[in-house]
Amino acid sequence: MNMYVGCDLGGTNIKVGVVDVETGRIVEVQSAPTLAREGHDAVMARMADLIDKVIADSGIPKAEIEGVGIGAPGVLDLDKGLVLFLPNLPGTWPNVPLVDTIAGRVGLPVYILNDVRAITFGEWKFGAGRGVDTMACFAIGTGIGGGLVINGKLHLGINGTAGELGHQTINFNGPKCGCGNYGCVVAYASGPAIAAAAA
Ligand SMILES: [Zn+2]
Repeated sequence: MNMYVGCDLGGTNIKVGVVDVETGRIVEVQSAPTLAREGHDAVMARMADLIDKVIADSGIPKAEIEGVGIGAPGVLDLDKGLVLFLPNLPGTWPNVPLVDTIAGRVGLPVYILNDVRAITFGEWKFGAGRGVDTMACFAIGTGIGGGLVINGKLHLGINGTAGELGHQTINFNGPKCGCGNYGCVVAYASGPAIAAAAA
């Protein structure tokens, strides 16, 4: 019994897959537009509908699905299953009970994790970091997300906030970053920063 559902809550798309976590095999994967401007209730309803649809289309009986893991792009309360702050989604989702809402709709245990920490775990188990004890993961897009595996364990810190590698200061005299510090990696190597440097 190794079947789980993975759900990526993105600013543009929601992506859902049924995955064998032992082998990394993806049985079924589908995506739908997030339409985040409609607000968090509509987005959570859309996530639950897509989860149910992907399970049905996978041919795996729902009773054999062990749970749902959701990666969300922001700050979460892992113990309470809340979204605290999603900077790239309208409304920013303050104190939204994501775990209880999705669990109530799909009838499966639900877990949440910052999306880049989830990517880090996936790359460690099945991708670029396979077989190593310690690794850093950078996810470069509009911002730079990060994650750490240290001595064979995903390093989460308080509420999964450890590993914001994009906000390391690499130049104390550098440009001001959106986080309030100066000279962060993001200020030099995010997608927009690279585009600006090439202009
Ligand atoms: Zn910063």
